[in-house]
Amino acid sequence: MTTPSLLDGLPLPTLPGMVHGIVAQEPWGVQCDDCLRVFSDERLLFAAQRALFNLYVPGTRKCGDCWRAAGWAYGNDGWRRVS
Ligand SMILES: [Zn+2]
Repeated sequence: MTTPSLLDGLPLPTLPGMVHGIVAQEPWGVQCDDCLRVFSDERLLFAAQRALFNLYVPGTRKCGDCWRAAGWAYGNDGWRRVS
């Protein structure tokens, strides 16, 4: 279950010195490139796990829903094409 963020839907700049998609601190916020939802958590790792990079599509960070819509799934064996 994802708690909606006030930042959802606004394309936000990556914070200076941070990896692409990290748009907030305290708590950490990580944004999906497609739907622009922002996933927040006090722990950066937990926020980042909800909007993932895909090694086959470098530089793009998306949430699970958007990766699935783009034909990708992530499981125990890594990324795989599903459509
Ligand atoms: Zn998304």
